[in-house]
Amino acid sequence: MPLTLSEKAKSVKPSSTLAITAKAKAMKAEGIDVVGFGAGEPDFNTPENICNAAIEAIKNGFTKYTPASGTDELKAAISRKFHDFNHITYAPNQIVVSNGGKQGLQNVFTAILNYGDEVLVPAPYWLSYPEMIKLADGVPKYLVTTKENGYKATAEQIEKAITDRTKALVLNSPSNPTGNIYTREELIKIAEVVVKHDIYVVADEMYENLIYGDEEHVSIASLGEEIYKRTITCSGLSKSYSMTGWRIGYTGSSIEIAKLMSAVQSHETSNPNSIAQKAAVEALTGPQDAIELMKNEFDKRRVYMYERICKMPYISCLEPKGAFYMFVDAHEVTEKTYNGEKIGTAAELARILLDDFSVAIIPCADFGFPNHFRLSYAISIENIEKGLDRIQKFLESL
Ligand SMILES: *Cc1c(COP(=O)(O)O)cnc(C)c1O
Repeated sequence: MPLTLSEKAKSVKPSSTLAITAKAKAMKAEGIDVVGFGAGEPDFNTPENICNAAIEAIKNGFTKYTPASGTDELKAAISRKFHDFNHITYAPNQIVVSNGGKQGLQNVFTAILNYGDEVLVPAPYWLSYPEMIKLADGVPKYLVTTKENGYKATAEQIEKAITDRTKALVLNSPSNPTGNIYTREELIKIAEVVVKHDIYVVADEMYENLIYGDEEHVSIASLGEEIYKRTITCSGLSKSYSMTGWRIGYTGSSIEIAKLMSAVQSHETSNPNSIAQKAAVEALTGPQDAIELMKNEFDKRRVYMYERICKMPYISCLEPKGAFYMFVDAHEVTEKTYNGEKIGTAAELARILLDDFSVAIIPCADFGFPNHFRLSYAISIENIEKGLDRIQKFLESL
């Protein structure tokens, strides 16, 4: 046998968002005043009551293995949260707690996919889905959405794309990278198609707590018994509680799927960190005021950023309703020339902005949408202002 490497592993694309963020960090370390709009995590500290629960856990010796799929205490807290917030009934034995939302999603694809099964992924999408699906031997099939429909897949579009190889649909609401959310009406129609064709829905609701204005978060699994049976609801503490480093995510599913996922996880990683699980119980059951404060701050930045982007030449964006991202259409910019050369792609635009204007943005080709970029507002309002000033200066020079 020659010393070859895994074709599957080699087919995995490293995360481009992390690459840009790393370059911006390196520039900062050299003393360059970079404004980074790449942040994929809240810029707030984890609330103090949550940190204190972790410290208590250490002091009390809660530092050993727990059941692989999470403690009974945490599963009970998640079960209550599913009931009260999402209006879905998942008993503790339908819940699997994982090392972050990412492991939860990877568990889901591993549990439901066989070799060659197709998964519908509306584009733009969070860049990890295709790689996770491929790692689970599935095949991502993209549904290109339109700006007119808020970058959301329609029931008709989904129905047209379903073949006899289609196993599942990924639905991410609120969406990373667009910040848009699916309405109840849209989800009802999508649920009808899903039930009719008997496929699964992988509902990624990681940003469910970050919704602004009068919009409501609707979990597709709450829309009836038939859609409930076919849905795996995925969420976690990372974004809602500013707990990205703690690595706690979870899923609600049928008992059968939960058993498969627990078995896989028991060999892969065993339990998520015991201390973080104690912190997660406090996050879900303790006071929620810190969450409201974070949300209000995000909302202020969202409003400011949206107003400014609307006034800039050559770019446009829809008003995001959730998460902490703006999805900016830059196709007009890519048609322009800069230093005598056509800009051409959002990746080149990102390079110019970083090298010549010290602003880091995330070009969205890896999110399935070229000529668009993502701006995160998980940075201070001062930095947002400074970064937008620079982008504006660049655009006005074209
Ligand atoms: C951040 C994120 C996740 C998972 O986050 P973890 O850090 O693994 O908990 C899942 N889905 C989307 C869309 C995300 O942006």
